[in-house]
Amino acid sequence: MAADIDCVVLGAGVVGLAVARELSMAGREVLVVEAAEAIGTGTSSRNSEVIHAGIYYPQGSLKAQLCVAGKHMLYDYCTERGIPHRRMGKLIVAATPEQSGQLEAIAQRAALNGVDDLYRISDVEARELEPALVCDAALVSPSTGIVDSHALMLSLQGDAENNGAQCVFHTPFRAGQVLDSGEFLLQFDGADAMELTANCVINATGLSAPSVARKLLGQPEQHIPQAYFCKGSYFTLSGRSPFSRLIYPMPDNAGLGVHLTLDLGGQAKFGPDTEWIDREDYTLDARRADMFYEAVRRYWPALPDGALNPGYTGIRPKIVGAGAPAADFVIAGPSTHGIPGLINMFGIESPGLTACLALAQMTRSALMQTPHQA
Ligand SMILES: Cc1cc2nc3c(=O)[nH]c(=O)nc-3n(C[C@H](O)[C@H](O)[C@H](O)COP(=O)(O)OP(=O)(O)OC[C@H]3O[C@@H](n4cnc5c(N)ncnc54)[C@H](O)[C@@H]3O)c2cc1C
Repeated sequence: MAADIDCVVLGAGVVGLAVARELSMAGREVLVVEAAEAIGTGTSSRNSEVIHAGIYYPQGSLKAQLCVAGKHMLYDYCTERGIPHRRMGKLIVAATPEQSGQLEAIAQRAALNGVDDLYRISDVEARELEPALVCDAALVSPSTGIVDSHALMLSLQGDAENNGAQCVFHTPFRAGQVLDSGEFLLQFDGADAMELTANCVINATGLSAPSVARKLLGQPEQHIPQAYFCKGSYFTLSGRSPFSRLIYPMPDNAGLGVHLTLDLGGQAKFGPDTEWIDREDYTLDARRADMFYEAVRRYWPALPDGALNPGYTGIRPKIVGAGAPAADFVIAGPSTHGIPGLINMFGIESPGLTACLALAQMTRSALMQTPHQA
């Protein structure tokens, strides 16, 4: 008997929608099933909306490859579809001579990733570009930009639906199993609780991806990582931004440091910081402002008292805990776990927004793999 649906994509964040678009454009029948009431209510609307250049990631990693490829694809896609975005560039600022000594290593790593347009500037040159900035030296990344993530997701959804995909909301995946036939039996909660069979399942549920995978029985447990949550808080700036480019301090292990990003209306926000938590909790602790003032004043000493307002938080879907080196994206397909038709997307933290179109292409290829390619 034929399956009810060819491909089920679990999760309607930017990644699930990009995958739905990619598969539907390839002629596959696609149903996107989302627990929440709308697209993009998870991490995809709780981030910095930065189109990353691809600077920091280890050479050859999926993050490096998919960020660089995805950046080019995303700029082209945004231009083609009229999605609001701006390639305004960013400065990576070294606060001390010791940090300045690390800029060269960042530029070299970027070049290995195919990002060869970074250039170093002195403190004087940095102040010519951004008069409010105080630093010892900086790297300029001209290809970094920002995007309206919601407009992007609406466009991806529109493309997918124009190619025949359907999206259902308020329908959390509850449980499932791999049947002897090779199809998947999937059960969903919600007002219209349903059960269906599918030939393929793409698990793009972000923070929930490991727990969703565990509920889909019949796949080997050892390929399902533990989920770790690392919250990032943002504070917004009252008044006009003194900067016209994105300003990043030197990166640390869990994140990119408390940076300044701008939205398309020119409003500035600072963040995200890093706070390891044990459950999905988006509460913003306004007391963290003290730490923000301190971090921001390292590159903008003139930040006035009282200028920061609590903004919002996002949670990084980590698959390694505090203190461990950052993990790569995981696109676990048949060559990983041996189950044809199943893709689990784990650890899709930053630069997942930038990389969404490239992640979707890789997911479609991974779906074609046969288990014996392992
Ligand atoms: C603080 C922060 C800043 C970031 N900044 C940037 C940035 O500037 N640039 C960049 O490129 N990337 C950035 N990222 C990363 C980027 O936001 C993510 O990689 C991307 O949004 C992940 O998208 P997703 O679709 O995988 O996950 P999500 O957007 O979380 O989507 C997952 C979806 O699955 C749904 N779901 C969960 N459980 C179920 C279930 N049981 N059944 C059905 N549906 C379910 C959820 O409701 C959700 O809609 C940042 C991330 C964070 C946390």
